[in-house]
Amino acid sequence: MIKRYIKSFFLYELLLGMKVTFLNMFKKKITLNYPHEKAPQSSRFRGLHALRRYPSGEERCIGCKLCEAVCPALAITIDTEERNDGTRRTTKYDIDLFKCIFCGFCEEACPVDAIVETRIFEYHFEERGENILKKSDLLKIGDRYEEEIAADQAAKAE
Ligand code: SF4
Ligand code: SF4
Repeated sequence: MIKRYIKSFFLYELLLGMKVTFLNMFKKKITLNYPHEKAPQSSRFRGLHALRRYPSGEERCIGCKLCEAVCPALAITIDTEERNDGTRRTTKYDIDLFKCIFCGFCEEACPVDAIVETRIFEYHFEERGENILKKSDLLKIGDRYEEEIAADQAAKAE
């Protein structure tokens, strides 16, 4: 009992806690000062989606709908049409990011490396409906990050 009072009087527990703080002050920090510092990312990181084009500018996607079929979250919606030259292309390619679980199955299923997941993870929505990425949005992301996407695809293939 007396021992407890003495400990309490001299703030023993508090000093014990401060000792831990003091000792950790000199240890190597494992936290990052985000967003100024960022953790390294794998080339297999599964972030925001993108649709890619060939160097000629032609869309890679041939509207086979394999990605739509394999998506476990039913997040992809595709409509297609046949062009005059007999090729098939999408008229609609939507991804609902509220449904997507970023599993990467769509990317794996795609026979022409058209739909990919980029390293982008910092994004937000301000209006209702912005969670649905449309074909034009996906192509825009693909065009902007093609260099990085191509390098990541090459690294994955190794
Ligand atoms: S990452 Fe997975 S859940 Fe998201 S769209 Fe692709 S297949 Fe669907
Ligand atoms: S993105 Fe790939 S898998 Fe999906 S419809 Fe286009 S070609 Fe087929």
